This record gives sequence, C-alpha cells and structure tokens, in this order.
Amino acid sequence: MSNDDYDVVIAGGGVAGLTAGLTSARAGRKTRVLTGAALGGHLVSIERIDGYPGFPDGVPGYDLCPIIQEQAVAAGAEFAATEANALHAEDAGRGGWRVTTGEGDVHARAVVIATGTTLKTLGVPGEEQLRGKGVSHCASCDAPLLRNRIVGVVGGGDSALQEALTLAQHASRVIVLHRGTAFSAQDAYVQRVKENPKIEVRFGTIVEEAIGNGGLKSVRTRSVPDGTTETLELSGLFVYVGLAPATAWLDGVLAVDASGRIPVDGEMRSRLPGLFAVGTVRSGSAGRAAAAAGDGAIAAVGADRYLKDGRWL
Ligand SMILES: Cc1cc2nc3c(=O)[nH]c(=O)nc-3n(C[C@H](O)[C@H](O)[C@H](O)COP(=O)(O)OP(=O)(O)OC[C@H]3O[C@@H](n4cnc5c(N)ncnc54)[C@H](O)[C@@H]3O)c2cc1C
Repeated sequence: MSNDDYDVVIAGGGVAGLTAGLTSARAGRKTRVLTGAALGGHLVSIERIDGYPGFPDGVPGYDLCPIIQEQAVAAGAEFAATEANALHAEDAGRGGWRVTTGEGDVHARAVVIATGTTLKTLGVPGEEQLRGKGVSHCASCDAPLLRNRIVGVVGGGDSALQEALTLAQHASRVIVLHRGTAFSAQDAYVQRVKENPKIEVRFGTIVEEAIGNGGLKSVRTRSVPDGTTETLELSGLFVYVGLAPATAWLDGVLAVDASGRIPVDGEMRSRLPGLFAVGTVRSGSAGRAAAAAGDGAIAAVGADRYLKDGRWL
C-alpha cells in the first residue's frame, strides 16, 4: 500500500466523521479523516451539547470534539485539515475511490461521506456585508462580546432556541424573530425560553434587512399578519433558519433526495459499492449528535466487513 492508499477515507470531521475514524482505526483499518475547515463540525461552536450520553449537564463541543479526535489518533487514524473536493470511481483494475483533496489525491476502497450541513443564510440586504460584524452563526463565539446588549435570533427550531438561551446568559435582552406562528423546537427548549425573563419572542416576523456601516446597528422587520415594518436596534443578529447538506463536492456522483441528502440503507451504505454516508448529510438522519456518532460507528463496521468480503447490498 502506497502512502496515499487507504482502506478507508472519511470526508468530514464532525462527530459522525470522528466516530467513523475512531471505529475504523480500532478495527485495524488504515484510515484517513479529512476534517475540512471545522474539526468537530457544528458541535465545536456549541457551548452546551444537550442529550449526548454520559453528560447529564451537557458538554461544551470544544471539549468533546478534541477528545474524540485524540481517541481516534490513539487508535491509529490519520487526520488532515483539508477538504474533499471531488470523488471519482477508480477503473476496474484498481477499484475503489479516488478523493481529490486540498493536499492532493488519496485512494481508498471505502469512503465514508460525513460532510454534514452548513447553516442557511437569510439572503437579505446587508447580511453578507455585516457577517462577522454583528451578523453571526455562532452564539457561543460572540455572546461574551455582547454582554449587556440587545441581540436578535432568527429562527424557531432547536438551534435557534438553544442559542437564544446561550445568548441570554450574556446579553441584556434577546429577541427571537420567527416567521411562523409556533416553534418547531423540542418542548424542553420552548419551556426554557418561555420561562427566561430576558427572552422576548416575536412570531410572524420576517427580517428583511441588516443595517449598519462597519457594524450592525439595526434590522428592518416586516410583520407577516399586517405587513407593517419596524426598525429594531440590535447589536447582534444570530441566524438559525435551517441547514443545507454539504454535497456540492460530490458533483452528482451519488443521487440525493429532495432535501439534498444522500439515501442510505440501515448500514449506512449508499447505492454505490464502497460509499457510505453518515450523520446529517444522509437521508433520514435524526439530527442529533448521538445519532450522528452512531451512524459513524455503523459505517466503519460496515466498511471493515466490505473490505473483508467485498459484498455490497
Ligand atoms: C446551533 C446548533 C446547536 C445544536 N445543538 C445540539 C445539541 O445540543 N445536541 C445534539 O445532539 N445536537 C445538536 N445539534 C445538532 C448537531 O450539531 C448535529 O447533529 C451534528 O453536528 C451532526 O454531525 P455531523 O458530523 O453529521 O455533521 P457536522 O457537524 O455538520 O460536521 C460536518 C463536518 O464536515 C466537514 N466538511 C464539510 N465539507 C467538507 C468537505 N468537502 N471535505 C471535508 N470535510 C468537510 C466540516 O468541516 C465538519 O467537520 C446542534 C446543531 C446546531 C446547528
């Protein structure tokens, strides 16, 4: 086996990819994990991961993710902080898959796709210009800078409410702006938001513009019921309006479902031999960290079996 030849290459360094790397290396497979820009994926910027087994009071993602990586490295997995840019089937003679990365090509008989999701943007004027200058996707990164300020959170799902709760520990007031008439988040978050005196909720509200020159000053909102607009002074705007699966790099190698995610069977196998998909990039993901970790372990066990017997589906 040459230096660039692996049994298993994993694209993605979130909890799904890290767990696949750990499990594959523990099975004695030569394994390389391509982490992309964010080792730990979304979790690394979450101050309190709820519902992850073993941590009844939650655990910060920046604590948990490096531990899983260390565990994988100790088991023998190699890591590269680079992106997978393309995936090609090798010819029948060599077999397997070639992954083009920012550091050159690597070859593997099995590839685990664990590239997760990216947070969607609002797509309104001012949002891009003010990104990092008040408009943000990371509450735990920016909340300490907004102590005693008024901030807004856009969205009505788990992520939005969880991050509103994080922000309320620092900001003087948090205004949740949600276009719908009810939250889609878990009851536990909805209850905590209702009980938090610092959090105000505005249903039926659309953010139409982020305003500021070099730093966010306000947002323009529109009421869904009556169409009236308002300018709301905010020092920070945190956007959690959904997730888009990170599959563009696959360039059509695998078919995706209507939401852009990769269909797999119960063993995380895609329809193409040697290609697995795990975590939130796959169809039907439960969307929770523990589920993503479980997917990674299942795929690594499946990859080991496939490398032994060559059987697919
Ligand atoms: C704000 C927020 C709060 C959350 N809170 C919780 C919680 O409290 N509890 C819970 O259970 N879940 C929570 N979740 C959900 C949890 O984050 C996801 O279930 C989990 O992150 C999914 O892991 P993943 O590995 O599938 O994907 P991701 O976390 O999206 O990781 C994807 C990885 O792929 C990498 N990548 C992307 N493209 C490429 C490429 N082309 N090549 C190589 N690498 C690439 C990225 O750098 C990253 O490392 C939360 C999510 C959000 C957004």
